[in-house]
Amino acid sequence: MVIDVHTHLHPPKLFAAIRKWFRDNPGWQLDHPTEPSAVAETLRENGVERFVFSSYAHRTGMARELNAWLIEAARSIDFYGLPLFTVHLDDPDYLEDATIALASGCIGLKIHEDVQALLVNDQRFYPVYSLLREHDAFVLAHIGPIPWKNVPEKGIARVKAVLRKYPDLKFLVAHMGAPDTRSYLPLLPEFPGLHLDTTMAFSKVTADYLALNADELEAHSSRIVYGSDYPTVPYPYGRELAQFRRMNLTSSTLEAILQDNAVRLIAPFLAS
Ligand SMILES: [Zn+2]
Repeated sequence: MVIDVHTHLHPPKLFAAIRKWFRDNPGWQLDHPTEPSAVAETLRENGVERFVFSSYAHRTGMARELNAWLIEAARSIDFYGLPLFTVHLDDPDYLEDATIALASGCIGLKIHEDVQALLVNDQRFYPVYSLLREHDAFVLAHIGPIPWKNVPEKGIARVKAVLRKYPDLKFLVAHMGAPDTRSYLPLLPEFPGLHLDTTMAFSKVTADYLALNADELEAHSSRIVYGSDYPTVPYPYGRELAQFRRMNLTSSTLEAILQDNAVRLIAPFLAS
């Protein structure tokens, strides 16, 4: 069984704009179908039991409507996929956006620092983090400008600032925390909610995302969670997963990363 904690569903217009951006910038030809039902079908075909998806508000005035779309998308696939909500901190009522989203079926918050031009340690996020803790919900955050630019140490410092304030907040750092992957490892014992997600780390498109070898993955397997970034990837869904399975990890590590750790994260929302 596989749970994928990092995928994307966006409204059609936004998806088209994102695709155009990827075509013009890294030159990625992204042509996987993007309708919620089509994405869900691909994930099912690849043995994914459950997935988590997100979008993000890159400007003010769009978060509430976008969250409503995400919840509707989840409903359209019978909550096989579970949505994360978005907020934009320059919206005057962003905290209300978060409250509404959590009450409507979202299981956490997605932050994309680079696309949103917002930093995770912006104090205005803090009431949202408090709300997430009350709901046992989590944050999934893309830290810094990777893969376009590597700015070491700064991103992890921002994550640390958040976790010092909220030591038990469930906080997933996307893309294995690149470029600071190894520096996150000593933080794991101190912050029980800190996790790294594997998005694109095994794909070879972004070779520097996987800074860890098999032994290190084994040693930290309880805090690493599988994510794919599908359908915003320039390769078929199964390719990276197959690559990961070829790493000769023990079956307990594979299960932890592909399933058990994610189950812990989404469990509060499956019970009801
Ligand atoms: Zn992503």
